[in-house]
Amino acid sequence: MKIIPLSEGSFTIDKTKLFVPFDENAHDLQSRPVGSLLVEIQPFVVITSNDILLLDTGLGFDSSDDKMQLHKNLVEAGINPSDITKVLMSHLHKDHAGGVTKSNHRDEPCLPNAKYYIQKREFDFAFEKGMPSFIPSELESLRNSDQVIWLDENEGEIDEYIRYRVTGAHSPFHQVFWIKDNGETIFFGADDAPQLQQMKHRFVAKYDYDGKKAMELRRQWWEQGEQEKWTFLFYHDVKNPVFKFQ
Ligand SMILES: [Zn+2]
Repeated sequence: MKIIPLSEGSFTIDKTKLFVPFDENAHDLQSRPVGSLLVEIQPFVVITSNDILLLDTGLGFDSSDDKMQLHKNLVEAGINPSDITKVLMSHLHKDHAGGVTKSNHRDEPCLPNAKYYIQKREFDFAFEKGMPSFIPSELESLRNSDQVIWLDENEGEIDEYIRYRVTGAHSPFHQVFWIKDNGETIFFGADDAPQLQQMKHRFVAKYDYDGKKAMELRRQWWEQGEQEKWTFLFYHDVKNPVFKFQ
């Protein structure tokens, strides 16, 4: 499988839940509010035997030339947005779901020919909770879209080679994915497994819905991944978007 990280840049985030761009060469982390986290935002394209998958959709921001950053990043990677066949959504926090619809046309899905795989209970939860973690107005048009495949089981399969599981760790209905093709396994843990260092060092994150569970899952996945030679994708890792056990 071919993996393409689509970096939207680095950001700091603090209690206000605003994503503020952070440029290593121009900004100083110490000058950001106490408790700020430095994160990358990067959706992934995975090209398999049958599909061009997109894993989460980024912030949905526009770049300086008024093009949607997600579209621009896809084109720069040699992929037409209309070529994406499936969008797998881990959860609907705004830094993962901002690009589900077009930034200038929130009533249109951003990927015109893709099926979007979304956990139904996560969608309902997004509307129950709302701002600032979720932006319902960016999600509303999915409700009746024939492009959406609603997942409502805790666990299941998509086309016999993708597995999903609801973990209830980072958020109550967060789901993770395994993609198996040609003897390879790619694991996308999204915010349950956001950065490489969190796989290596045990800690409970304050921002998780069930931090202990997330920590325990990371330990299990890291162990199993090492045995079975998984490739991990880290959505929020500034330096290590992809890690493969050899
Ligand atoms: Zn999240």
